[in-house]
Amino acid sequence: MQTIALIAHDGKKDDMMRFTSTHRALLAQFHLVATGTTGERVMQATLLPVERMLSGPYGGDAQIAARVAEGGVVGVIFLVDPLYAHPHEPDIQGLLRICNVYNVPVATNEASAQLMLKGLAENASTERRK
Ligand code: PGA
Repeated sequence: MQTIALIAHDGKKDDMMRFTSTHRALLAQFHLVATGTTGERVMQATLLPVERMLSGPYGGDAQIAARVAEGGVVGVIFLVDPLYAHPHEPDIQGLLRICNVYNVPVATNEASAQLMLKGLAENASTERRK
């Protein structure tokens, strides 16, 4: 099963819950990995299993970056809050950098996340038919 990573800053967590609930059926086709609090709330909102890393400020973003580097992550949905300064900004930049190094799609807002998820789900079903 392909993996999608989910991360939402605090100011975007409600948006992430709405997004994952709305797109539950598509997300169910993937293994989900998430930072600590995001993962807990996505599990509650969708009842889908989520592999949880540490919370973002405690290294969760860096753990997700490592997973991207190891391979197997086909997309990262990272709803960033552009109106708030984050103590773990270097880790955030590191994750975005690693996605660019490995050419892994990363969506940093909901509109791009929607397009990305649709594309990934279509690819996954084409792969299954092969
Ligand atoms: P969290 O981490 O899901 O544990 O809140 C996200 C972040 O702030 O990077």
